[in-house]
Amino acid sequence: MLGAMEAPVVMVGSDVVEVERRLRAGELLCPCGGGLAPWGHARERSVRGVGELRPRRARCGSCLVTHVLLAVSCLLRRADGGDVVGAALRAKAAGAGHRTIAEQLERPVSTVRGWLRAFARNAETARALLTALLVQLDPLAGPLPAHQGVVADAVEAVGACAAAARRRLGVVGAVSPWQLAAAVTGGRLLAPTLSAVSINTSRPLGNAG
Ligand SMILES: [Zn+2]
Repeated sequence: MLGAMEAPVVMVGSDVVEVERRLRAGELLCPCGGGLAPWGHARERSVRGVGELRPRRARCGSCLVTHVLLAVSCLLRRADGGDVVGAALRAKAAGAGHRTIAEQLERPVSTVRGWLRAFARNAETARALLTALLVQLDPLAGPLPAHQGVVADAVEAVGACAAAARRRLGVVGAVSPWQLAAAVTGGRLLAPTLSAVSINTSRPLGNAG
């Protein structure tokens, strides 16, 4: 649960040097539209599949809210990077069970079961957000093939969005499908509180692009 003491998150690219440059140049924006300025660092943490991170904090000059800048390679409050979790979700969509997935990814069964349950809760919202982005990226994209279950539908939407982003924006080729999914959902792919209302979809790739 996002506690009252926890700063809101702004998603940024995973290139630390580039994020720092953009932050100092005033190019990173708060969801309110104000400019973000450097405001110290959050606690250092280790994210499997990503490495050691010391996330940047930034303060908005307009609304004065302090944010944590979360790299799109990470998910909010998860010790595994988005690509690791994404691999589990892809395997689940392909019909694998949580024990098999845990073995393949060398993660505890309880951890993988937790990811799958959390994502199942959010899958419909994630699918809706990604489908809306897909239409923005490619207005001519046809309807996605329907699968058995909303998890597989959401995973399909992640892949379709990433492909459309590569076609449309080119530069996003460096961003993996699950980094894109993290950007679109504000890092909340597995959070208890993913809601389409709480996420600014008008600039889905804004700070992260
Ligand atoms: Zn603001």
